[in-house]
Amino acid sequence: MGRVYLTYFDQTPDTQFYLCRACQVHIALPQEFVDIFIDNELAGGVFRNVANVHTLSPEQDRRVGDRTLSDVYCNSCGNLLGVKFIEVASDDEAVTAGYFLLRREKLKKWNGQEIVD
Ligand SMILES: [Zn+2]
Repeated sequence: MGRVYLTYFDQTPDTQFYLCRACQVHIALPQEFVDIFIDNELAGGVFRNVANVHTLSPEQDRRVGDRTLSDVYCNSCGNLLGVKFIEVASDDEAVTAGYFLLRREKLKKWNGQEIVD
Protein backbone atom coordinates (compact mmCIF):
# COMPACT_ATOMS: atom_id res chain seq x y z
CA MET A 1 0.00 0.00 0.00
CA GLY A 2 1.33 3.43 -0.96
CA ARG A 3 1.93 6.36 1.27
CA VAL A 4 -1.27 8.00 2.45
CA TYR A 5 -1.53 11.74 1.90
CA LEU A 6 -3.93 13.50 4.21
CA THR A 7 -5.80 16.74 3.61
CA TYR A 8 -6.12 19.28 6.39
CA PHE A 9 -8.67 22.08 6.59
CA ASP A 10 -7.78 25.42 8.17
CA GLN A 11 -8.37 25.03 11.89
CA THR A 12 -9.15 28.65 12.76
CA PRO A 13 -11.93 30.54 14.57
CA ASP A 14 -13.48 31.22 11.13
CA THR A 15 -13.88 27.58 10.17
CA GLN A 16 -15.90 24.59 11.22
CA PHE A 17 -15.51 21.00 10.09
CA TYR A 18 -15.99 17.38 11.08
CA LEU A 19 -13.19 15.07 12.23
CA CYS A 20 -12.78 11.34 12.63
CA ARG A 21 -13.73 10.54 16.21
CA ALA A 22 -11.01 7.91 16.53
CA CYS A 23 -7.97 9.74 15.15
CA GLN A 24 -9.19 13.35 14.64
CA VAL A 25 -8.12 13.51 11.01
CA HIS A 26 -10.18 16.09 9.10
CA ILE A 27 -13.14 14.60 7.22
CA ALA A 28 -15.82 17.02 6.04
CA LEU A 29 -16.78 20.69 5.76
CA PRO A 30 -20.24 21.94 6.77
CA GLN A 31 -20.71 23.51 3.32
CA GLU A 32 -20.64 19.98 1.87
CA PHE A 33 -23.40 18.86 4.21
CA VAL A 34 -26.68 18.19 2.40
CA ASP A 35 -29.19 16.70 4.80
CA ILE A 36 -29.88 14.31 7.61
CA PHE A 37 -30.78 10.87 6.32
CA ILE A 38 -32.76 8.26 8.23
CA ASP A 39 -33.74 4.95 6.67
CA ASN A 40 -33.86 1.78 8.77
CA GLU A 41 -30.30 0.51 8.48
CA LEU A 42 -28.93 3.85 7.31
CA ALA A 43 -28.85 7.01 9.37
CA GLY A 44 -26.47 9.93 9.39
CA GLY A 45 -25.52 13.13 7.66
CA VAL A 46 -25.28 13.25 3.87
CA PHE A 47 -22.32 15.09 2.35
CA ARG A 48 -21.59 15.96 -1.27
CA ASN A 49 -17.90 15.44 -0.72
CA VAL A 50 -15.54 14.35 2.05
CA ALA A 51 -11.77 14.14 2.53
CA ASN A 52 -9.35 11.52 3.79
CA VAL A 53 -11.55 8.49 3.23
CA HIS A 54 -11.49 5.47 0.95
CA THR A 55 -13.81 2.71 -0.18
CA LEU A 56 -13.03 -0.92 -0.83
CA SER A 57 -13.05 -2.61 -4.24
CA PRO A 58 -16.32 -2.59 -6.22
CA GLU A 59 -16.73 -6.33 -5.57
CA GLN A 60 -17.43 -5.44 -1.96
CA ASP A 61 -20.24 -3.00 -2.76
CA ARG A 62 -23.58 -4.12 -1.37
CA ARG A 63 -27.19 -3.64 -2.32
CA VAL A 64 -29.59 -2.17 0.22
CA GLY A 65 -33.05 -1.81 -1.26
CA ASP A 66 -32.72 0.17 -4.49
CA ARG A 67 -29.29 1.47 -3.58
CA THR A 68 -25.74 0.21 -4.06
CA LEU A 69 -23.46 1.18 -1.18
CA SER A 70 -19.75 1.06 -0.55
CA ASP A 71 -18.40 1.27 3.00
CA VAL A 72 -16.27 4.35 3.70
CA TYR A 73 -13.16 4.13 5.89
CA CYS A 74 -10.87 6.75 7.41
CA ASN A 75 -7.56 6.96 5.53
CA SER A 76 -5.66 7.54 8.74
CA CYS A 77 -6.99 4.99 11.23
CA GLY A 78 -9.14 2.70 9.07
CA ASN A 79 -12.27 3.24 11.13
CA LEU A 80 -15.59 2.63 9.36
CA LEU A 81 -17.26 6.05 9.08
CA GLY A 82 -20.28 5.41 6.86
CA VAL A 83 -21.14 4.61 3.26
CA LYS A 84 -20.89 6.08 -0.22
CA PHE A 85 -23.89 5.85 -2.51
CA ILE A 86 -22.61 4.15 -5.67
CA GLU A 87 -25.97 3.72 -7.39
CA VAL A 88 -29.42 4.90 -6.48
CA ALA A 89 -32.77 4.41 -8.17
CA SER A 90 -33.40 7.20 -10.67
CA ASP A 91 -36.43 8.34 -8.69
CA ASP A 92 -34.60 8.31 -5.35
CA GLU A 93 -35.17 11.79 -3.98
CA ALA A 94 -33.32 11.28 -0.72
CA VAL A 95 -29.77 10.89 -2.04
CA THR A 96 -27.65 11.21 -5.16
CA ALA A 97 -25.06 8.75 -6.46
CA GLY A 98 -21.60 9.81 -5.34
CA TYR A 99 -22.81 11.32 -2.08
CA PHE A 100 -21.53 10.12 1.29
CA LEU A 101 -23.45 9.23 4.41
CA LEU A 102 -21.40 9.61 7.58
CA ARG A 103 -22.58 8.43 10.96
CA ARG A 104 -22.66 11.20 13.52
CA GLU A 105 -21.32 8.95 16.29
CA LYS A 106 -18.18 8.37 14.20
CA LEU A 107 -17.37 12.07 14.01
CA LYS A 108 -16.40 15.01 16.17
CA LYS A 109 -16.66 18.66 15.21
CA TRP A 110 -14.29 21.60 15.25
CA ASN A 111 -16.63 24.47 16.12
CA GLY A 112 -14.12 27.30 15.65
CA GLN A 113 -12.91 27.12 19.24
CA GLU A 114 -12.61 23.50 20.29
CA ILE A 115 -13.31 19.96 19.24
CA VAL A 116 -16.70 18.83 20.53
CA ASP A 117 -18.97 15.79 20.22
ZN1 LIG B 1 -9.59 8.11 11.66
